[in-house]
Amino acid sequence: MNYKSTRSNLEVKASQAILMGLAPDGGLFVPEMIPKFVPENEDKTALKEKLYAFSQMTYQELAYEIMKLYLDDFTEEELKTCIANAYDSKFDTDVIAPLVQKDGLFYLELFHGSTIAFKDMALSILPHLMTVSAKKNHETRKIVILTATSGDTGKAAMAGFQDVEGTEIIVFYPKDGVSEIQKLQMATQRGENTHVVAIRGNFDDAQTAVKKMFNDKEMAKELSEHGICLSSANSINIGRLVPQIVYYVYAYSQLVKTGVIMPGDEINITVPTGNFGNILAAFYAKLMGLPVHRLVCASNENKVLYDFFRTGDYDRKREFILTSSPSMDILISSNLERLIYRICGNDPELCRSFMNDLSGNGSYVITDEMRERLADFVGGFASEEENFEGIADLYRKSGYVIDTHTGIANAVSRRYIRDSKDAIPMVVASTASPYKFAASVVGAISPDQVSGKTDFELIDILHSLSNVEEPNAIRDIRTAPIRHKIVSDVDEMPDTVRRILMEK
Ligand SMILES: *Cc1c(COP(=O)(O)O)cnc(C)c1O
Repeated sequence: MNYKSTRSNLEVKASQAILMGLAPDGGLFVPEMIPKFVPENEDKTALKEKLYAFSQMTYQELAYEIMKLYLDDFTEEELKTCIANAYDSKFDTDVIAPLVQKDGLFYLELFHGSTIAFKDMALSILPHLMTVSAKKNHETRKIVILTATSGDTGKAAMAGFQDVEGTEIIVFYPKDGVSEIQKLQMATQRGENTHVVAIRGNFDDAQTAVKKMFNDKEMAKELSEHGICLSSANSINIGRLVPQIVYYVYAYSQLVKTGVIMPGDEINITVPTGNFGNILAAFYAKLMGLPVHRLVCASNENKVLYDFFRTGDYDRKREFILTSSPSMDILISSNLERLIYRICGNDPELCRSFMNDLSGNGSYVITDEMRERLADFVGGFASEEENFEGIADLYRKSGYVIDTHTGIANAVSRRYIRDSKDAIPMVVASTASPYKFAASVVGAISPDQVSGKTDFELIDILHSLSNVEEPNAIRDIRTAPIRHKIVSDVDEMPDTVRRILMEK
């Protein structure tokens, strides 16, 4: 299986795509074809048997079954070792991604890893995939990961790469665009190879500047002379996308196992969306053969994607709104490029021209023919108010507490069900622990208790409201020393990188 760039005819193996992150032409790597659970010409019975077999597997076993189809230049032993090292006791539950039914919906809890956000699902395995890939390709230079984060990626990436030999990681986050807990999580990160830089700008500024560094040939040459090669842990890396497919199949398997559905029955999936990585993985699961009826793409007030699905016009020229779901405060959803490539008939020239329009004019409009290929998706968005009301309502009815990102998906999926009368079981991707956004969550459920409280007092209140044990990730930052204090302007980012790397 080869991986193609969305912007040229470049083709590489999986391990090379993982090492590079972004293609040198600025494109994203996509598998040349999406593998199927069962060969296309086999009947429905074969698929049902496969889906039943999946329902009998552990998370790790299923991860191997799915990932081997994409990473076919890894040996069985290499891949199984990566999986075993990733999905272990770092997760606070053996099932890794529990599915819980509350007030009629199925919440897929993706926040049981070490940094309590769904990014752990992929970032706990990416460093292992990357070091194996480096060996495979006789890469002896030090791998330096540059990552722009809207809050959760950076922490999860550092947790994954912390003290991994032969790697160094630099994370950029918007100084005023993350929660206090997120900020503390990053500033206290341990590991001799981890670096954190707060940026005077928003996430899109940081992401654009990081992409620019990846495309900077001069800089690449200079760093290479110092024995360094850059790579990315952002969701544009195929090594993040592939592990994310697994948990959608796992969610389906759990519904089969508990008798909610029969193998072959359809489900719907709602994903709180920012960079479009998580929902794209769900789409890939569908293309592989997972019976998914609709993919509901839930946005917050930065509703570029909602407008895109409604009109075919992707337009980032609008106000950037800071919301209480900061990891979704994004106007340039990078992974959408993979979908654009697909719906424009896998044509790199065409795809590149759309992306050039986006970077040059801030927008592009797809053709009617391309729009017709988006029928699997439904766009929706929720305001801050709807989000908070939904969180409070769910808590009143079930005692279950969700975070503000899951809250967006919660509000959007419930509205979708009300409006469409679609009664197919709905899986909602639950992307962060409420503890990570305690101030907003307590504000939604019990607003009288918020004023004048510190974040840690709010965490204590959340504990008494939810009765869910405080995660290690929170306990840890109560006392951990601050290690990272660098602040940088956006245009200084390349120099900051040089300084960090050359001083080592
Ligand atoms: C990153 C993130 C999202 C958005 O996921 P994308 O793959 O970027 O669409 C949603 N919720 C949380 C908590 C996140 O950390």
